[in-house]
Amino acid sequence: MERKRVLITGAAGFLGSHLCDRFIKEDYHVIAMDNLITGDLQNIEHLFSLENFEFCHHDVSKYVYVPGKLDYILHFASPASPIDYLKIPIQTLKVGSLGTHNLLGLAKNKNARMIIASTSEVYGDPSVNPQPEEYWGNVNPVGPRGVYDEAKRFQEAMTMAYHTFHGLETRIVRIFNTYGPRMRLNDGRVLPAFIGQALRGEDLTVFGDGSQTRSFCYVDDLVEGIYRLLLSDYSQPVNIGNPDEITIGQFAEEIIKLTGTTQKVIYKELPTDDPKQRRPDITKARAILDWEPKVNRADGLKITYEYFKNLPAEALVNKEHKDFTTYNR
Ligand code: UDP
Repeated sequence: MERKRVLITGAAGFLGSHLCDRFIKEDYHVIAMDNLITGDLQNIEHLFSLENFEFCHHDVSKYVYVPGKLDYILHFASPASPIDYLKIPIQTLKVGSLGTHNLLGLAKNKNARMIIASTSEVYGDPSVNPQPEEYWGNVNPVGPRGVYDEAKRFQEAMTMAYHTFHGLETRIVRIFNTYGPRMRLNDGRVLPAFIGQALRGEDLTVFGDGSQTRSFCYVDDLVEGIYRLLLSDYSQPVNIGNPDEITIGQFAEEIIKLTGTTQKVIYKELPTDDPKQRRPDITKARAILDWEPKVNRADGLKITYEYFKNLPAEALVNKEHKDFTTYNR
């Protein structure tokens, strides 16, 4: 039987590369697309020799063309850390808006089903906890996170319009904080930041007083939820995340224990608009997808720490290896 064909954008990134692995495992033909601004080919290098895998170096903010039939499109291209939004704000806006529009057009042409990677950031700094899909959010459009949050909110609106106006098959996953192997060590997100600091023998930098909360989902659980949502017939947004909530201060203590570092916690200024609390309400995912996370934080963190510990020494250097300044804005 002919293989189903799936286009994955952001394929060389953290989530994109794990999705490539999953669809290869399910015997799809995978077309992996990435402009490599924040992605890294090392994440998908092991797939290049497969006959049902191909890589396309392309920026989806520009017109996207893919020859042949397409059954599914997974739009996972986007910078995804607060530090990245500061460095490449305009690309962040473009990939969520123009990129999404291009891919929706492609999906319509190919009669493909499209799933977009939305985010808990659509809830902004939420005034309800946990956040159900019905909560409309509390977002500052002109703050440092606005470029990401508003692009993602626009992305949801655009996707829903293609669904209602063109009858396109669409799915919207709202992804909460996720961790695991292949996160970028120096992207500024809290888990790679803490583990990198522990490995380099530096103090762990907690922003604010550490009372803000997050809820961390292991990447395999997230991928399972996305896979189920894509194959479901539900076109409204669905939260996928792990409801096990923890303060960032407690999280730092867990990383200190995990890594056995003798360093201490130091406190730094809280970034502007940093959400005070975040925890997914996953009632819908449970009911519609029969999904819930299976990997607890202790187990997930052990696997993730092993991954970072085994990276080559030069990866540990506390310096972003990408020079963003050369990219077209
Ligand atoms: N954070 C921290 N120290 C760091 C990096 C992040 O205390 O070195 C905090 C950050 O202020 C936020 C939380 O950890 O409250 C999660 O940050 P991250 O950038 O991972 O993602 P966010 O959930 O804010 O998008």
